[in-house]
Amino acid sequence: MKIGIDIGGSHIGIGLVNNTGDILAKKELNLVEEDKIDANNKIISYINKLISKVLETKDAKIEDIELIGIASPGVIKKGVIVKADNLKLNKFNIVGELKKKYNVPIYLDNDAKCAAIAEKEYGNLKGYVDSVFLCIGTGIGGAVFWDGHLLESARSPGFELGHMTIDIGGRKCSCGNNGCFEAYSSIGNLRKIVAERMGLDKSITGKQLVEILKNNKNNVIVGNILDEYIRHFAVGLANIINIFEPEIIVLGGSIVYYEDIIIDKTKELLRKSSLIFNEDIFPKISMAKLKNDAGIVGATIIRKTLNKLT
Ligand SMILES: [Zn+2]
Repeated sequence: MKIGIDIGGSHIGIGLVNNTGDILAKKELNLVEEDKIDANNKIISYINKLISKVLETKDAKIEDIELIGIASPGVIKKGVIVKADNLKLNKFNIVGELKKKYNVPIYLDNDAKCAAIAEKEYGNLKGYVDSVFLCIGTGIGGAVFWDGHLLESARSPGFELGHMTIDIGGRKCSCGNNGCFEAYSSIGNLRKIVAERMGLDKSITGKQLVEILKNNKNNVIVGNILDEYIRHFAVGLANIINIFEPEIIVLGGSIVYYEDIIIDKTKELLRKSSLIFNEDIFPKISMAKLKNDAGIVGATIIRKTLNKLT
């Protein structure tokens, strides 16, 4: 049995995972804005709490655990979260901290790469040679498979598809740049815009956001927000398609809850626009089979190249 930890910009999920990628038990909690003050200590204490709870549900002990895998947003190097802007984390040695308490091997990797590996092993990327995975939640992470292999640059995990500029001088991104894909097409940004333009509290939950969008389809403000979202989303996807020409793009993260609100219209726009250079290679666009659990499962799959980076 392994423990998979998925740290998101607004949520931590911890699962007990077996060797065939099944989640046997899961515990989660939502992170609030206040948690980002002293985020290092808060995250460690939440992880400790959730590990105890999840072990308890299966009457298991930490000695029964083969390894702990952590999926985190941001730039990851040698067991350290170098920077994760959405969590306000900087040079956080999370593996070192957890090793003080747990005497098991602990691995850390980028969340989008973890989720992509899980989808490749058990989900909708299985069987494809050239593919792209986008993890769209609080931010946007990316992973690219080329000729069946996960592409990684030698110096860092790379493939920060969420931070390609799609609008020069546009909306401010958490990374400091203006006009990033993430600043328009992350669910975190969608939540912010909906709260701002509809005069709602900034702390609306993901669940509430889905309800608001579904129940107000004829509302002009909602219509404009979704049109704007879909136009930018289509541009970002088209750039990725034109560069990598993947057979399939799989979307994971909390965007999986928005399939009927966003995805069909985005595909329609992509097909009728001239955004795709090579129309003959229009890829399949699917949601993650493992839904929002891909990060937890992927964190427990240790890939050969990981040692180079951790
Ligand atoms: Zn950015």
